[in-house]
Amino acid sequence: MEKRFVYIDNAATTMVRPQAADILCELTAGGYANASSLYSIGRESALRLKAARKTIAQLLGARSEREVYFTSGGTESINMAIRGAAKSAGKGHIITTKIEHPAVLNTIRELEKSGFEATYLDVGQNGVVNVKSVYDSVRDDTILISVMYVNNEIGTIQPIAEIAKLAKERGIVFHTDAVQAAGHIKIDVSDINVDMVSISAHKFGGPKGAGALYLRQGVSLEPFITGGEQEFKKRAGTENVAAAAAMAKALELACENIDSESVRQAGMRDRLTDGILSAVPHSRLNGDRVQRICSNINISFEGIDSESLVLMLDMHGICASGGSACMAGQGQPSHVLQALGLSEDLAKGALRLSLGENNSDSDVDYILKVLPEAVQKLRRLSPIWSDRQ
Ligand code: PLP
Repeated sequence: MEKRFVYIDNAATTMVRPQAADILCELTAGGYANASSLYSIGRESALRLKAARKTIAQLLGARSEREVYFTSGGTESINMAIRGAAKSAGKGHIITTKIEHPAVLNTIRELEKSGFEATYLDVGQNGVVNVKSVYDSVRDDTILISVMYVNNEIGTIQPIAEIAKLAKERGIVFHTDAVQAAGHIKIDVSDINVDMVSISAHKFGGPKGAGALYLRQGVSLEPFITGGEQEFKKRAGTENVAAAAAMAKALELACENIDSESVRQAGMRDRLTDGILSAVPHSRLNGDRVQRICSNINISFEGIDSESLVLMLDMHGICASGGSACMAGQGQPSHVLQALGLSEDLAKGALRLSLGENNSDSDVDYILKVLPEAVQKLRRLSPIWSDRQ
């Protein structure tokens, strides 16, 4: 079989769209002026920044471009949202889930050290949080709810609209980490009553180190980075105009054919999922089959160490991931898979394939040829597996 190159790790990061890369190069080399400078090239930078803000505001359904704040990425947006809301409230209780990204979990754990209290909600075996459990955990002093839109490991879509409705009824600020959703699922903040949305450019074909926070007007948020008056006094630091403009272009392009692309990717996802499950005995899909983003497949193979599988796939030119990219190499079973109740063996044997615009049906065919054989080979090499059989 001829070796091919297949990048199927789009939840870790995406290829930069050529048009976004062009803007990045153009503005890095030519548009270097500080957006706060008064002379004409500075004003030009300010205009590019304003245009990027407007594009992102429109694509998210914001009422005004003043509701969009540029940051250095998903992690910073999340910190800005959670720490900012906590600082504004001074004290109180925060609700989140056990399957959040470490950017959320570790930020809330830090806040617990300074007197905030937190509830980490369980999820069902399907990896979806139950709205009633959010409802039941609300207290009089709850100041913030933070629930991710799409899980980065298992791709499950959380009931954001219902949680947002509940938060609004109870007057609680609601943040969603939409890093894995933006550019893949239509997000309309005028439709769902979410107060804060974190997004990251490199997950939808933009550059790394660029992100944004949507903050609904009227929601109180203390800045957590102190310094100059940039970003409406909420996020100090000279703006990265090139990255912001490239991010806006990438989001625009991702949203342009979001519907047709999600149908196309869901078709590939289903063929790949069914193909793997039927070709490889003792394998199972992790996370809800239906309430799932079009691009994610997460399958556990009994008796397999996913790191070995990832390396074997790499020898065949396939870039995939065991669990999330952030946890890769740490040798620890994923907190998300543990929250689903998976045994250590199944959690360690989980492989994540995440499709993107770069993938085609021939990639699916190639993976279906390579992967079952790779699993079989690794199992043959494993003394534990032979004993068990
Ligand atoms: N939240 C989720 C769900 C993610 O998947 C990631 C990155 O993988 C982040 C937050 C962090 O985003 P960034 O890499 O832009 O800091």
